[in-house]
Amino acid sequence: MAKLEIKIYPDKILKKKSLSVKKVTEKEKKLATDMIETMRSANGIGLAAPQVGIRRRIIVVEDMEARNSPLVLFNPKVVKKKGKCSFYEGCLSVPQVTSDITRPESVTVEAIGLDGKEVKIDTDGLLARVLQHEIDHLDGIIFIDRIGFLRRKGILKHISKKVCVEL
Ligand code: ZN
Repeated sequence: MAKLEIKIYPDKILKKKSLSVKKVTEKEKKLATDMIETMRSANGIGLAAPQVGIRRRIIVVEDMEARNSPLVLFNPKVVKKKGKCSFYEGCLSVPQVTSDITRPESVTVEAIGLDGKEVKIDTDGLLARVLQHEIDHLDGIIFIDRIGFLRRKGILKHISKKVCVEL
């Protein structure tokens, strides 16, 4: 396993749409394993391939109920959503920023699993939220894109100020 470099906002790759995985080969499996290590060492509960500089539709998500078997999903997509709820989110690519984001409360996600077979996940709560956040990354959407313009402007100002101070 190897730890990968996490791309930080406003890195351009975070705004790009990722490409489908045609076939799950050893290469994809190794990448997923490396992504899991990267996610865990950064104390994250989800990570999408573009966050480590790879434009492929791959996400890894910590399964909160089974700590040692994280989900690895290729070409995940939300096929059903229900309800609405607001919850605080953060992102490994946007350090030190959290914001409450409104999203559907429960979702059905279809994807290809690590064994190359189709999987279907019906879930709500934190797992539903993490899945939606990571799938957004595959379409070049960052969580701060989902908040109102004025609040986003305030957050971005805060980020650029912080960068200046750290430089
Ligand atoms: Zn994120």
